[in-house]
Amino acid sequence: MDAALDQALELGGCPLCSLQDRACAGYFRALLWELVTDVGARNKLRASLGLCPRHWWRLRQLERDSLHNALGLAILLEDTVGEVRKLLEEGDFRQRWENRAPCPACEREQQTEATYAGRLQERLETEPHLRRRLCKDHHNLHVPAPGRSLQRSGKLLPIPRGDPSRCPGCGAYEPSERGKGPLPRCIPHLVEEAERGVLEETARQASVRWAEELQTHLRGFIHKQDHQVCEPLTLRERTILDEAVLFLAGAPRVRSAA
Ligand SMILES: [Zn+2]
Ligand SMILES: [Zn+2]
Ligand SMILES: [Zn+2]
Repeated sequence: MDAALDQALELGGCPLCSLQDRACAGYFRALLWELVTDVGARNKLRASLGLCPRHWWRLRQLERDSLHNALGLAILLEDTVGEVRKLLEEGDFRQRWENRAPCPACEREQQTEATYAGRLQERLETEPHLRRRLCKDHHNLHVPAPGRSLQRSGKLLPIPRGDPSRCPGCGAYEPSERGKGPLPRCIPHLVEEAERGVLEETARQASVRWAEELQTHLRGFIHKQDHQVCEPLTLRERTILDEAVLFLAGAPRVRSAA
């Protein structure tokens, strides 16, 4: 345990964030490479309706940069979009949404924090200068209660032009779509509007249709990952992983600098 902590301290930056990110990356690696066909892991992700927005984007980034398993990610996304679509079709989805299980990646982070916070606290007594290394979220070291979700601070990233997201809340829809009837919402904005009591029925239906489209294109993408299939990806399929993450997580957020 101390070896891992020492290693994290050598890296620079907040040691608890490094340890959490490592735990999270390990979970994602297993998820994409081993657990995609694991019934228990799939059921856990269905119970939580996927990941939280921050972890969806982190998974997308890690898949692209180091894990390299687009097929695994597409299968997970198709499954989750399907679960969320079924939920949205029911109309009153808020209660089920609020009662969903916590994000499994957040749970990993909490376990990691609980494991190392006490040990780091001891180190701080003899090496008080290490406190300066802790980020804003970890500055007041504590062992989080199980199941409590960590609220992270973060700011919205600007979305590149031509981004496939059409959620007006994320502000990334194509201007040409204005006036073409109700725009769909990403899930975080849909839930937010439902909570404020301003969600229009037509917007909910538009989001259901967006989910259906995503599933169709994700299935096309999955089918073409088979080496026997030599068809090229369509334009939409080429950006379908990002689009599905946008639907589930909204525009990407980054953690603000400590
Ligand atoms: Zn930190
Ligand atoms: Zn999470
Ligand atoms: Zn949105």
